[in-house]
Amino acid sequence: MQIKLWGCRGSIASPGPATLRYGGNTTCLEMRTKKGRIVIVDAGSGLRFLGKALRREPGVSELRFFITHAHLDHLSGFPFFEPAYLERFSLTFCGGVHAQDSIKRYLSRQMTAPFFPVEFSVLKAKFDFACQRDGMRPCSGPCRWDGLEVAPIALNHPNGGYGFKFTERGRSFVFLTDNELGFRHEGGLTPAQYADLCRGADLLIHDAQYTDAEYRLTRGWGHSTFNDAVDLALAAGVKRLGLFHHDPDRTDDDLDRQVENCRRRIRKAGGAVDCFGATEGTTLEP
Ligand SMILES: [Zn+2]
Ligand SMILES: [Zn+2]
Repeated sequence: MQIKLWGCRGSIASPGPATLRYGGNTTCLEMRTKKGRIVIVDAGSGLRFLGKALRREPGVSELRFFITHAHLDHLSGFPFFEPAYLERFSLTFCGGVHAQDSIKRYLSRQMTAPFFPVEFSVLKAKFDFACQRDGMRPCSGPCRWDGLEVAPIALNHPNGGYGFKFTERGRSFVFLTDNELGFRHEGGLTPAQYADLCRGADLLIHDAQYTDAEYRLTRGWGHSTFNDAVDLALAAGVKRLGLFHHDPDRTDDDLDRQVENCRRRIRKAGGAVDCFGATEGTTLEP
C-alpha cells in the first residue's frame, strides 16, 4: 500500500509561514492498495485538496472512508470535498464497531443550518454507510477488502473513537491519532495493550501533540507526548514511527527539535526505530 499524507495537524488548521514545511491542514490520509483501491482516513481540512486531486483523475469513482472519530479537526473538510457533490463518485464509510449510524449522523449534522449553507441532501454522490459491499462486514473485528485487511483499535480519547491497523501482503501500517497514552479514558486501552496491537508494525503513525512540559496542563485532553509515542514504538518494536497530530502552535523549527529529541531517546534506549515528523504532501510505503 502507498500512503499520502494530506493533513497532519491536530485540533485546528494552522496555515502560516511557521507551519509551511510540515503543513497546516488537519488529519487526512489517502491510501492506494496494490489493487488500486482508494482508502481515505479521516476528513480533516486536508480532504479538500485530496478531493480536487481525485476529481481530476480519470476513472476514479469508488472511495472508501475510515473515520476515526467525530471531533471537528477530523470532519471539517467533508463539506468541501468536491467528489461528494458529483454523481460520478460512490462513497462508502467505515469506522469502528457500531459506528455506521453515527458516522452518517455526524457528517450530515455539520451540514445543517446555521452551521453550513449547503445541506447534506444536496450532495449527488452515492453514499453507503452499511460498509457491507464486496463482502466487507461492519468492523466488529478485522475485515477484508480486496486483499486489504483492516482491524479497528479502540482509541484512548474523550468521546472514544477508533484507530486502524491496515495489513496488505504482509506489510502493516497502524494509524493511532488522538490516542492518549498517559491517561485512561472510557473505552480506551492500556499502553501495554497498544504495544501488543502495534507489535512489529512496519509503520506506526501516532499522536505526539505535546512536550512533557505542555502535558502538565493538557493531561486528559486526549493526546500523547512525544516521549510516550516513542516509548510505545520502542515497546512494540515497530520499524518506523511517524509523529502526528502536530499542535497548532508547533512551528516547523520547533518540530525539527522535537523530532531530534525523539531520535536521541531512541538511540539512548538502543532502539532501531526510524522516527520522523509526519509531513503534509509526503508519500510513505510501509
Ligand atoms: Zn484530532
Ligand atoms: Zn479528537
